[in-house]
Amino acid sequence: MSSNPIILIDQDNVIADQLGHFHALLTRDHPDVWETWSGKTTSYEIEADFAPEHAELIKGLRLQEGFFRDLPVIAGAKEGIQALKDAGYKVYVCTAPIWQFHPCVAEKLNWLAREFGHDTAAKSIIARDKTFIGGGVLIDDKPAISGECTPVWTHVLYDQPYNKDTNKPRVSWNDIPKMLDTIAHVLAQW
Ligand SMILES: [Mg+2]
Repeated sequence: MSSNPIILIDQDNVIADQLGHFHALLTRDHPDVWETWSGKTTSYEIEADFAPEHAELIKGLRLQEGFFRDLPVIAGAKEGIQALKDAGYKVYVCTAPIWQFHPCVAEKLNWLAREFGHDTAAKSIIARDKTFIGGGVLIDDKPAISGECTPVWTHVLYDQPYNKDTNKPRVSWNDIPKMLDTIAHVLAQW
């Protein structure tokens, strides 16, 4: 293990609250769709917890201009990333933008610059397939991550309601000391 391991951090639903923004937009703009919510968040695909006839509308929300620009920051994310840097890790945001929506990359980079500083945006990694990317740990909310390569990083889950049943190391910005312990433990076995 190198003395300064690389921590890759996913953007959506790890530092950018896409799930909360979906719910806010549906509440505000589509109350009829919102009424069909199951009341639970059981799937990585948000539309799965709504009536099936609304799936296309829900998926289309993230294709609207400004969707990625307007995402709230997940509580504790700034403090968590700072804590990782203070612990000596090299931190890189690694995100897979929606390829069909061309402003998505620009909105994501501008969001990172606005919320986390230009240095974080400039160092961010845009990768549809994260298995190509090096690093000791990838913190990501997606339950299973696969791709062309066998990843060199260990996948650490960012805790979300839809990944509760996945048995992997798990962190949350809600408990930063525990998050740091989990990362150190995973890297010790790397
Ligand atoms: Mg994500």
